[in-house]
Amino acid sequence: MEENKELVKCIFCGKEVYLPFKCQFCDGSYCIDHRLPENHKCKNLWKSKESSKERKNSPQPVTSPVGDDDESSPL
Ligand SMILES: [Zn+2]
Ligand SMILES: [Zn+2]
Repeated sequence: MEENKELVKCIFCGKEVYLPFKCQFCDGSYCIDHRLPENHKCKNLWKSKESSKERKNSPQPVTSPVGDDDESSPL
């Protein structure tokens, strides 16, 4: 009986790797060459980009100022 080896195939190129890199976006196992989302055309990469883009678009949270007490508008 052979011991269960931790040989995992990179799901992108099929290369067998002992310690595969797991993509945090698509949860796939990849070799060292394709561990980066850009290198394996990660299907969930857009999500991370989208979120970062959203942050840039709205750097400040939209909150209505609540200061009716301090409001002093002369007529
Ligand atoms: Zn690979
Ligand atoms: Zn991925």
